Amino acid sequence: MFTKIDKEIIDLLKKFLNSDQIIIDREKFEDYSHDELPGLKFYPELVVFPKNTEEVSRVIKLANKFNFPIIPRGGGSGLTGGAVPVYGGCIISLEKMNHILEIDSDNLMVTVEPGVITGVLQEAVEKQGLFYPPDPASMDVCSIGGNLAEGAGGPRAVKYGTTKDYVVGLEFVTPTGEICQVGGKLVKDAAGYNLIGLLVGSEGTLAIITKIILRLIPLPEFVSDLLIPFSDFKKAIKSVSEIIKAKILPSTIEFLDRESIKAYREFVKKPIQFEDAEAHLIIQLDGNSKEVIEELYEKIWEICEKFGAEDIAVADNPQVRQRLWEGRRSLLDSLKAISPIVDVEDIVVPRASIPDFVEEVIKLGKKYKVRVANFGHAGDGNIHVNILKEEIPDSDWHELTPRLRKDIFQLAVKLGGEITGEHGIGYAKKDYLSLSTSQVEIDLMKKIKKVFDPNNILNPGKIFE
Ligand SMILES: Cc1cc2nc3c(=O)[nH]c(=O)nc-3n(C[C@H](O)[C@H](O)[C@H](O)COP(=O)(O)OP(=O)(O)OC[C@H]3O[C@@H](n4cnc5c(N)ncnc54)[C@H](O)[C@@H]3O)c2cc1C
Repeated sequence: MFTKIDKEIIDLLKKFLNSDQIIIDREKFEDYSHDELPGLKFYPELVVFPKNTEEVSRVIKLANKFNFPIIPRGGGSGLTGGAVPVYGGCIISLEKMNHILEIDSDNLMVTVEPGVITGVLQEAVEKQGLFYPPDPASMDVCSIGGNLAEGAGGPRAVKYGTTKDYVVGLEFVTPTGEICQVGGKLVKDAAGYNLIGLLVGSEGTLAIITKIILRLIPLPEFVSDLLIPFSDFKKAIKSVSEIIKAKILPSTIEFLDRESIKAYREFVKKPIQFEDAEAHLIIQLDGNSKEVIEELYEKIWEICEKFGAEDIAVADNPQVRQRLWEGRRSLLDSLKAISPIVDVEDIVVPRASIPDFVEEVIKLGKKYKVRVANFGHAGDGNIHVNILKEEIPDSDWHELTPRLRKDIFQLAVKLGGEITGEHGIGYAKKDYLSLSTSQVEIDLMKKIKKVFDPNNILNPGKIFE
């Protein structure tokens, strides 16, 4: 179906790429053969590292001429196999296009190349009193381009939304090699279809994003984190709905179930706060007045106490806060220390349905005799259901995971949810897309794909065949 990449193609690439911009040795392909989705590995035939948009366009034009697949890649931290070259071909790694081009404090905008690491961008704008809120837990390794492609979110989505809410301008290269600019440093833009909205979340299947303009907001002056233990996870989640009902909007409301707390305790190998609890809530409040924040956490404590919370720890100094969040961000690593293979699902349901969802998932875990740990963004209904392989033999694991996954997705859909809240469909979930997406919608998506990519060379095999 696709042409193999041969010497003729490589020689043509070498006419405009330097030797440090091409990898052709199979031994060096390892890092590019997988992302963070366990068990999916395909080797590319070539990896290239363009340094500018023009080079991206020239590689794509060659791919069209010779009919080989191209796969955009950022930090490789995806959890659905999005950057894995399932049909071989050429990976276009954006890691050398990693410059912050301009922080414009007059317009509260930042212009970046796609390979900028999300955490690096956040630190750079914060030094100027500005704030880029989307905070995927992988922000030390993932790239802004990958965040756009996945529509990434993070704990702060409750108050600040996700990546899509910050993109105001884009430069991209189409799958036929044209360079296109849309939007700009604009707070409003109503000219024609919203192509930015279409490309954010398109999982590297419609275009390669080469420059991004993001909206910034002023950095809140005060931030406090609360760690609240519960002896009943249902009550922990119910208190989340009450907090929102009381018109309090924290910047994050994260929850960890018993299995996740246990895994983290085992991982750090030292006592952790409230380690015997059935559930933890981590709530972050931010704003420009310390008094207002203190008033809010008093109110939150009153609500949580009513729902059986027995204690509270308040972290308002930066070191303690950092430790708390490092813990939260290392949860997946904690689970991987117990079970190197962890199947991570990131369903989303209406906030109020979380208790019913988690209760049913625990039952499913018992039915399939597999350990399941749940944690995630309670404030926005996005739960990470982590299925641990542990000692389960490979053949049993391959037989049970598709069935269990389907049950979990059907449960989410029954409760009015979706099969993914932030990790995307990629390769891992394409067989399940129709569980929550109508045929009409899927057909429209396929037609859009065809318009952008008539030769189907950009990231084939992702979202749908
Ligand atoms: C420990 C851990 C925690 C995580 N926590 C979160 C979280 O809190 N929230 C969340 O949303 N996700 C999370 N993720 C998932 C992952 O980090 C995100 O999906 C992230 O956005 C991927 O970015 P990346 O640069 O690593 O992209 P990659 O994995 O390299 O690629 C992801 C997709 O984007 C495409 N792509 C990459 N760059 C471009 C580009 N310039 N143009 C077009 N397409 C492109 C690729 O083709 C692929 O389809 C987590 C992952 C891990 C391992």
